[in-house]
Amino acid sequence: MKAVRLHGPRDLRVDALNEPGQPGTGDVLLRVGAVGICGSDLHMVLDGRIGDTVFTSPLVIGHEFMGTITAVGEGALDGSQRPLRVGQRVAVDPSTPCGHCEICERGYPNLCPNHTFYGVYPTPGALQECMIVHGQNCFPIPDSIGDGAGTLLETLGVAIHAVDLGKLRVAETVAVIGCGPVGMLIVKLALLAGSSVVYAFDKFPWRVEKAQKWGAQAYHADSVDPLKTVMEATGGRGVDVAFEAGWADESVQLAADMARCGGRLVLVGIPGDDRLYLRHSTARRKGLTIRMSRRMKHTYPRAIRLATSGAMDLDDLISETVPLDQAPTAFDKNLRYEAGVQKIIIKVT
Ligand SMILES: [Zn+2]
Ligand SMILES: [Zn+2]
Repeated sequence: MKAVRLHGPRDLRVDALNEPGQPGTGDVLLRVGAVGICGSDLHMVLDGRIGDTVFTSPLVIGHEFMGTITAVGEGALDGSQRPLRVGQRVAVDPSTPCGHCEICERGYPNLCPNHTFYGVYPTPGALQECMIVHGQNCFPIPDSIGDGAGTLLETLGVAIHAVDLGKLRVAETVAVIGCGPVGMLIVKLALLAGSSVVYAFDKFPWRVEKAQKWGAQAYHADSVDPLKTVMEATGGRGVDVAFEAGWADESVQLAADMARCGGRLVLVGIPGDDRLYLRHSTARRKGLTIRMSRRMKHTYPRAIRLATSGAMDLDDLISETVPLDQAPTAFDKNLRYEAGVQKIIIKVT
């Protein structure tokens, strides 16, 4: 079968691999339907690492995915403890916490130090035609959610978790820096959660346009002074909650500058150089509450409800769908941020 593996920085290849065998106890065999390209995949392709996780042998990447179950191992239950069956379409949560350590028991499975993650070394990801996954990571999706939208449930889960950390209250004001897929979903969720206004900023005009369409007061970050814009609009007060969902460079400081005194700052983006750029005095004088967003906690059921109800138009975020063979080209295109690129979906089978 075909698989896309990362052999080193900027070295993605379509390789031939053996098909996996039959699923063991609790696992299922999945025919992978679609995989979304995520910002963290782009970091991995560029640098051969994500944060301090370095890979040392070729790795099948891809962690935002869905597929159809083709075989069920003994006793395999889904993420809601229901039996899985052949033929079900499922979205897959890529993270597998141990479920038994102190951190898991305290209710932070997203921070489990013993977890594995599909598509992050050493666990192979989803850019392959078939793979075995744990039943507990699977969440059945209705036919009304297409394959591409099914992969975006992972992205939506990340955004839901970030908004949860922001502890938004009705009629509060929000700023979102970075209108990639996660930033866009945060914009929409903040509005659904009752924010009175969401100021959104991005460097790409097509993203600004989409954020505007989705209900934000959106601005091109290079054409306006983002901080001045927010301060003028809020009468010098700043916003209640500022989300950084971009490349986490000087944008972290900018988000902190936009937050009101006593406000909240939620950091979602991952910086290329693994450094946090924030003036101590900004955070201290304002007494900011800073939350670092790490993955998600059982957000798939909520994400599926939002997608099914029509509250979230996930398809509207998909800029292009390409076949598996074209995955390396698609990553290149995404890395260059060619005009119009938002979420690229790779159709695997
Ligand atoms: Zn991702
Ligand atoms: Zn654990």
